[in-house]
Amino acid sequence: MTTRAAVFWGPGEPFTVEEIELAEPGPEEVVVRIAAAGICGTDLHSVKGEFRRPTPMVLGHEGAGVVEVVGSEVDGLAPGDQVVLSWAPSCGECADCRRGRPAACTRLHDALGKGTLVDGTTGLSLRGETVYRGTATGCFAERVVVSSRVALPIGEGVPLREAALLGCAALTGVGAVLFAARVEVGSSVLVVGAGAVGQFAVQAAHIAGAETIVAADPVEGRLEQVLRLGATHGLDPAELAERLAEIAPDGADYAFDAVGDPATTEIALACTRSGGTAVMVGLPAAGARLDLEPAHFIRREKWLTGTMYGSEDPAIALPILLEHVRAGRLDLSGLVGPEYSLDRIDEAIDAALAGTPGRVLVTP
Ligand SMILES: [Zn+2]
Ligand SMILES: [Zn+2]
Repeated sequence: MTTRAAVFWGPGEPFTVEEIELAEPGPEEVVVRIAAAGICGTDLHSVKGEFRRPTPMVLGHEGAGVVEVVGSEVDGLAPGDQVVLSWAPSCGECADCRRGRPAACTRLHDALGKGTLVDGTTGLSLRGETVYRGTATGCFAERVVVSSRVALPIGEGVPLREAALLGCAALTGVGAVLFAARVEVGSSVLVVGAGAVGQFAVQAAHIAGAETIVAADPVEGRLEQVLRLGATHGLDPAELAERLAEIAPDGADYAFDAVGDPATTEIALACTRSGGTAVMVGLPAAGARLDLEPAHFIRREKWLTGTMYGSEDPAIALPILLEHVRAGRLDLSGLVGPEYSLDRIDEAIDAALAGTPGRVLVTP
């Protein structure tokens, strides 16, 4: 079996669209025809050389599509089913997996660094050479073969180009607020960075009943976007400290770093009230280090924590998100940004690097 896929060759090099070989699906695997895949900050870390990953590689891990083929032992999925891909095809056996945290699976993290699935294979090749998988998925392609456990059915009614956003940005941003921090009614919330993850965090804070929701981002158009999604204030980062002192004089009850940079984590922590909680949501570049003032934790008793993929099993979290979508509480359509065909992947990556109000999609 073959598929067209956008192949990444290394930082600074153009992608090429190739007809690559796909291993036949095993008994517990499915073939998914990809309808849309979002470009996530993790893909951009590879593009910018901030993550060292083997190449050639097919990036893309925020995908939705339609099941085409199911293996002989797959239960609960049939050809024609619409699915969102989880990027955590974990081992299912380690302590983190048994605790319902597949995205924290130690074997998965080893595999992510090596560009493979947890069994060490990729199932992809080009002219006899191994092609690696970005984030254990690789969905900047027309088709992917994945474990049936990570093809999560979404039923009917959610357009696939919108559903793609559920696969990473929504599970991550909503989960950070509802499942990791567990924001309470009446809280004050700060979201640093209003890309897709930050926009989902804002919506989740609104769902949780937060009274004050402040979002900060320098990219044009994103502040209008967060105000529409439930933020009470949209601020330029340059005015954040001064304005927050008026809006929440003690600091925010919860502050989320949706960027994933030591500088933005420090801003989030600095803006957290005494005894409040700062949460790292965005993934920092490899080798990033935090340099923090101990007084935040001792004198002011703040908490600093992090969340991976929303701190919940995607198979459990996704139906909850879908309920919010169907009830009109969680907007997907307004977060969809420009769409590019596979052949225009370089333009799509440039648009994502420049920053847009909506998520940049690759639609094979
Ligand atoms: Zn992602
Ligand atoms: Zn595991």
